Amino acid sequence: MRSITDTIHAEFAARFPTSLKRYAEAVEVFPSGVTHDSRYLKPFPLYISHAEGAHKWDLDGNEFIDYWGGHGSLLLGHNHPTVVRAVTEQLSRGTHYGASHELEIAWGQWVQRLIPSAERVRFVNSGTEATLMAIRLARGFTGRQNIIRFAGHFHGWHDTVMLGYQVPYHHPSSVGIPGETLACVRCLPPNDIRAIERTLAEDRDVAAIILEPAGGANAVIPTRPGFLAALRDLCTRQGVVLIFDEVISGFRYAPGGAQAFFDVTPDLTALAKILAGGLPGGAVAGRADIMALLAFKDNPQANRYERMMHMGTFNANPLSAAAGVATLEIAATGEPQQQAGTLTLKLIQGMNDLLRAARMPGCVYGDRAAFHLFIGQEGFHPDDAGQILERAEPARLSAGMGRLAHPVRAALLLEGIDPSGSSGRLSSAHIEADVERTLAGFERAIARLKRWGVLKGDL
Ligand code: PMP
Repeated sequence: MRSITDTIHAEFAARFPTSLKRYAEAVEVFPSGVTHDSRYLKPFPLYISHAEGAHKWDLDGNEFIDYWGGHGSLLLGHNHPTVVRAVTEQLSRGTHYGASHELEIAWGQWVQRLIPSAERVRFVNSGTEATLMAIRLARGFTGRQNIIRFAGHFHGWHDTVMLGYQVPYHHPSSVGIPGETLACVRCLPPNDIRAIERTLAEDRDVAAIILEPAGGANAVIPTRPGFLAALRDLCTRQGVVLIFDEVISGFRYAPGGAQAFFDVTPDLTALAKILAGGLPGGAVAGRADIMALLAFKDNPQANRYERMMHMGTFNANPLSAAAGVATLEIAATGEPQQQAGTLTLKLIQGMNDLLRAARMPGCVYGDRAAFHLFIGQEGFHPDDAGQILERAEPARLSAGMGRLAHPVRAALLLEGIDPSGSSGRLSSAHIEADVERTLAGFERAIARLKRWGVLKGDL
């Protein structure tokens, strides 16, 4: 008898034959054949040839409704004409001047206009670089070295943030991190203001508290109402730098990000993704007195001993600046967020109705910015979606679908739906018809999962 794994592989190979061939080449080039951990997929990842709006196509011509959205960077969908025009025009004027240029000023001014905490801005190249910079600034500014972060929150892949993202939280997500670095990190449960108060009372060496304001791992573990305001208050009283990692929430919850949406202003904000309109880019935006650590003074001693040094060949490169300015100008209207948000809520409700009808355990939950699949999870019901924190331990949520994650994703891909792992985000290019097609595909995917027998099967 064929195993479940063989069945899934056979269905994948029949539908996506060219991707299977490319993957055979890729494993000889890249470890596990991929260039980002999240793109690893069993039985094999798909190779995309082009994308447009809310859709993308693989090498065999299969079409997908795209909920990955450039890892969250494409609020306007693929190839928005205004962004394409801006980047194309810039391309013919040069991709790197090794010099300051006007577009970087315009880009920084958009960040200042939109993000409440952005008194000053510095561009970097990714979200990882942005959180690295924010943490270093906080340490330099306070002269303290410890960092408080929350279990399950994601902040990129540099050394300091490798403890506390994955279960078990006390074990770093990567090998190769010095013990001294790990010893500087206090990983606390999310949403627990008392635990933070206790830690700050015992530890006078805390420089910063960093978190994803809307919730850990792109709000898979949502933030409780009132927590951010209490945290802001505590940080102000204790002189601890509050860092919002808005790499994914920035410009998405609102034009001013989650800090505008929840009306709580941090000291520093890490930005990336939508910031650069689908091209590489990141930034730290924050209080002028903290950002001044990056400034040169007319004092060689201070410049050598009291500054935060910062280089980066592609910081504020003209192409990313062009895409960023074009995108932020449209994001500033609030319309893309409104449009994507309304359809996201509709999709969540529709998916839960289908789970309910199919008597499939689990639920789909989320907010206007993203949906999260929690499918095949015994003890969970579609009615739990609105109160997921009451129903599940944060660790249970951040562990996700476990062994079902790959089969669920595979079943959805076979139905022409591409969520990013077990979450998905809409863009302003998604329309009602996409939601309807997704719900029809989702229904067939549930049937396929049942046919595969993955719920009770031994994968
Ligand atoms: N922080 C958050 C909240 C993120 O979602 C991500 C990326 N998914 C990062 C940091 C890291 O950003 P990058 O992949 O650009 O390094």
